[in-house]
Amino acid sequence: MKCIFCDIIERKKPAQVYFENDDLIVFADILPRAAIHLLITPKAHYRNLNDIPDDLLIKLVQRARIIAQELSIEENFRLILNNGASAGQIIEHIHFHFLSNAGGINIKYMDR
Ligand code: AMP
Ligand code: ZN
Repeated sequence: MKCIFCDIIERKKPAQVYFENDDLIVFADILPRAAIHLLITPKAHYRNLNDIPDDLLIKLVQRARIIAQELSIEENFRLILNNGASAGQIIEHIHFHFLSNAGGINIKYMDR
């Protein structure tokens, strides 16, 4: 199963990428709902929390903590997971929304 996030991961579709490694990628939401709105998603396609292995899940949450530290907003962010279409999940490739309304932060994206 492939999707729009798989296309971003495979570089078939552009995105403002903040971080990536072998396991996961972090990129800007195309329709930001906060001053900072990043999506943290695994490179492997898992539909949602019911499918993803524990070890990968923890890496996503750990990454949120690291991003907060890097941006010095440890006490000022939200982490949201819409799990299932009925709960508002539109893209069926698990992702956490990392949101903050902290001001004055200049996010540096990667050259890809
Ligand atoms: P969800 O409703 O939790 O599935 O959220 C999907 C999110 O993906 C929404 O916030 C969209 O704005 C975002 N989105 C959709 N297409 C793209 C894209 N090509 N690049 C970045 N973000 C996207
Ligand atoms: Zn996918």
